[in-house]
Amino acid sequence: MAAWPVVGHEWALDLLARGLRGGRPSHAYLITGPAQVGKTTVARAFAQALVCERQTGTPCGECKTCQRVTQGRYPDIQFIAASKNNIQIDQVRAIQTDAAIAPLEGKHKVFIIREIEQATAPAANALLKTLEEPAPQVILLLTTAHRDRVLPTIISRCQVIGLRPLPLAQVQEALQTRWGVDEERAALLARLSAGRLGWAVAAHTTPELWLARAKYLDDLLTLMSAGHLGRLAYAETLSRNGDEIELALGLWAAWWRDVLLVQRGLPQALLNLDRKTQVLQQADLFRPEQVTGALTDLTQALRRIKANVNARLALDVLVLRLPKPAVL
Ligand SMILES: [Zn+2]
Repeated sequence: MAAWPVVGHEWALDLLARGLRGGRPSHAYLITGPAQVGKTTVARAFAQALVCERQTGTPCGECKTCQRVTQGRYPDIQFIAASKNNIQIDQVRAIQTDAAIAPLEGKHKVFIIREIEQATAPAANALLKTLEEPAPQVILLLTTAHRDRVLPTIISRCQVIGLRPLPLAQVQEALQTRWGVDEERAALLARLSAGRLGWAVAAHTTPELWLARAKYLDDLLTLMSAGHLGRLAYAETLSRNGDEIELALGLWAAWWRDVLLVQRGLPQALLNLDRKTQVLQQADLFRPEQVTGALTDLTQALRRIKANVNARLALDVLVLRLPKPAVL
């Protein structure tokens, strides 16, 4: 039996393979887990196993069908994703129309719908109909990083597969062996990814992401010696940078966590290995309660921004409360 073309998530794949080999896959699955942990990769691999000509429970990777799936040109597997942060009812209607037509080639028609929590209310309700009266050849693979935002009625009609972050050693090994990343960088990326291989690979292959990290960490250090006006001006600029706010705040949270770890005598658990010297300096400059305070402020700011509170306001509060070095 061939191996799954996926790093990690073995138990989830085993579970999917068992359903396949028993000849009774569910008609809908909801794959949950943190962003970039591997949900789409697992969904694609499972879809490939469903249509593989050899039907062994895992994709053989060699038959014509498997190869076309890998190349993204197999007509009975379709990807649907949110556009402009929404899955619209028209997209669900297109699935319904398509689902009513027999598969062009194999036994199954697979629709992979990513970020299902982005479905508008009409789209979600329309999808519910498809889930209630499934066409026998149709299999829906839904993914979400926000299970709490998916309609409970949708969840209850799916087999839920919850993916967890991978062990850091597994991420590091995959980066070294599959992506040719050198050992030191692989260790750093694995730690920063918190077990999300997709994130680590993206950080490796997208230099912009790496540069953005350097920028936001430098910004944080600069901000702490800036006065009121400088801090507020920064908050204003960042607030206009929608997509980057959560990235910046997440990096800052990881930074303070590192400073706190050093203060608690656990430097071996640092995430920002490449900036260890700076982390050590900061651990001397701030009192532990200042660091925990900064972490609490960040958590609150992130929560408020996710709840669509005025981002500018949340960032103003955050930067104004950034600690000043206690020892200078
Ligand atoms: Zn195959």
